[in-house]
Amino acid sequence: MKAIFFEKHGGNEVLQYGDRPTPEPGPGEVRVSIRAAALNRLDIFVRNGIPHVPLPQIPGADGAGIVDAVGPGVERPAPGDRVLLQPGLYCTVCEFCRGGEQSLCVQYRILGEQVAGTFAQQIVVPARNVYPIPEGLSFEQAAAFPLVYQTAWRMVVTRAAVRPEQTVLIHGAGGGAAGAALEVALLCGARVFATTSGEQKASLVKSAGAELVIDYTKDDVLRAVREVTHKRGVDVVIDCVGEKTWMISLKSVARGGCIVTCGATTGPNPTEEIRQIFWKQIAILGSTMSNDQEFRALLSAVASGRLKPRIDRIFALTEARAAYAYMEEGRQHGKIILTPESRDL
Ligand SMILES: [Zn+2]
Repeated sequence: MKAIFFEKHGGNEVLQYGDRPTPEPGPGEVRVSIRAAALNRLDIFVRNGIPHVPLPQIPGADGAGIVDAVGPGVERPAPGDRVLLQPGLYCTVCEFCRGGEQSLCVQYRILGEQVAGTFAQQIVVPARNVYPIPEGLSFEQAAAFPLVYQTAWRMVVTRAAVRPEQTVLIHGAGGGAAGAALEVALLCGARVFATTSGEQKASLVKSAGAELVIDYTKDDVLRAVREVTHKRGVDVVIDCVGEKTWMISLKSVARGGCIVTCGATTGPNPTEEIRQIFWKQIAILGSTMSNDQEFRALLSAVASGRLKPRIDRIFALTEARAAYAYMEEGRQHGKIILTPESRDL
């Protein structure tokens, strides 16, 4: 099969398009013929080099397609079924899996990070990782939401338990998990204040429903939050930015509020003001991906049209370098999709 893969870490020059062995489904596994895959910031981290990435590696966490083979013991799905992939792999038998917390699994892995990913014509995954594509959704739309929206769902709905009367501050809401968190927080009925950079992104974040959009490149975020909340602060901060925003988060959150983190794009070791944490009795909540129950809830929100994953641009799989470069420019609003139809180099 054709795939995008890399044999060493680096920039886009390490991405190759070429032949990889066609994977065969083992017991309990299915093979999916990929019709659309979606890029995430994770794919850039994986290409650059993070621990536990086997080489050579096929990147890509998100994907959707058609089941083309099933392994022994698989009754559902069947060949020909349209499916989307839940990119988190788990063992089913550890104490966390048995307790229904699959993203806490001691062997948790993500497609395209620790195992072969979706930027290929075919992929093999456990049958429990595929879900029927909701009616009316294209392959591109089905590939566009699983990773970032499941991350957002767990942060907002489960970890922060956002309620309609609450206020939420979301850093960097122009895209990724933070952009998805904006939509999920609105679905929960909260008032959402968001930060982003540049006029174009600010107007898009505003049109997505944020009550207040703060351009962090020119405005004082903390001052704006204090003003809009009459010095009280917000109930919940969603901070996946890390070093650059952490102190703002600590100072922006109200007494008894919480900060949820699912990443540290600008660095993992911020200065921290411990006095803010105990005096204001702030809860710091980590979050990664989602469990199966949350994923099913997300799927129903997408199926009913209450969440509408946005697609920015579609590239052929052969154009993966251009797609990565486009993502690194950071001007997209919505997902960047790769489709493996074109077989030419
Ligand atoms: Zn497990």
